[in-house]
Amino acid sequence: MFAFQFHCHQISVAGLWFTTNPDIRRDNKPKQRRAILIATIFAHMLVPLAVRAGAGPNLVSRRLLVVAAAATAVPDLDVAAFLYGIPYGDPFGHRGFTHSFAFAGLAGLAATFFASRLNSNKLISFWTIFISMASHPVLDSLTNGGYGVAFFWPMSDARYFLPWQPIMVSPIGIRGFFEARSIQVLISEFFWVLLPLLAAIITAVSARRFRDKRKKALMHKHEHL
Ligand SMILES: [Zn+2]
Repeated sequence: MFAFQFHCHQISVAGLWFTTNPDIRRDNKPKQRRAILIATIFAHMLVPLAVRAGAGPNLVSRRLLVVAAAATAVPDLDVAAFLYGIPYGDPFGHRGFTHSFAFAGLAGLAATFFASRLNSNKLISFWTIFISMASHPVLDSLTNGGYGVAFFWPMSDARYFLPWQPIMVSPIGIRGFFEARSIQVLISEFFWVLLPLLAAIITAVSARRFRDKRKKALMHKHEHL
């Protein structure tokens, strides 16, 4: 059965499928699963927020931010492959081509055509979408389960993990096991994903505020000289 075929990971779309599937909903603990799903989606979406915090709201518009946030979930649309019997390890399987840097690059390239609609320029649109989408497989490669990600597709079908995998994988779909580990999964996501990204956002916003204040103070000083 599909739900038992793979260890789900930093899921977003996959989790959505599980939470909406009535058979699986009956078997497992929907509340805990939903909590992990929300935490995971939120964690991914912090990446474009961090990009905006670093680049500033003038460069990364609100509209570009919303599109970039959605882009962080797109790689996991590949779970549809399971429905068509495509194995996990296949280049077109889960964590396959949609998790490659090439795929993120193509999405970034597509965004450049809509740069003016995204209230941004081509360069910023490209990098915001690329970083947001590529951050997804990077986070996946930091998890301690499932298969690695095909970072370098189409050059190579090899699956990679980073040497350090502190994020605990969510074994969604495995009855009983889930309940015991759900809190640990949430804790590991909190410490290894949410906390560092929140720290980066707060640092970037504070640094910009400090810079702006200093600029204003200097201008004020010059006016009174
Ligand atoms: Zn993924």
